[in-house]
Amino acid sequence: MTRKSVDELLATTRFETDEHNAHIVIDPQACRTCPSDRACVTSCPAQRYVWDEAADQMRFDHVGCLECGNCRLVCERLRLGAEGYSWNYPATGAGVSYRQG
Ligand code: SF4
Ligand code: SF4
Repeated sequence: MTRKSVDELLATTRFETDEHNAHIVIDPQACRTCPSDRACVTSCPAQRYVWDEAADQMRFDHVGCLECGNCRLVCERLRLGAEGYSWNYPATGAGVSYRQG
């Protein structure tokens, strides 16, 4: 059986993305001094967090978020709502809709 890429798997899921209001906010520059060993990168099943070595900052895109909450658990700043960091579910009607349960 062929292993599907994350993008192919995400394509089987439906999103109503609120492009203008990110439900998860991080401070890409402040992530340089991450107290959580950048655990967001390895814990996000949708690969929304990518450390940009050249730019020396985090790249994050809320579009395609599966709302699993992993990043909130592993990131001390998201969990505690530190300045520049917040985690919320998308506004009503937005976000992911799982097609297969
Ligand atoms: S775990 Fe939190 S503070 Fe650390 S890099 Fe990820 S988003 Fe930034
Ligand atoms: S809630 Fe889950 S899918 Fe969304 S960004 Fe966080 S870890 Fe990734």
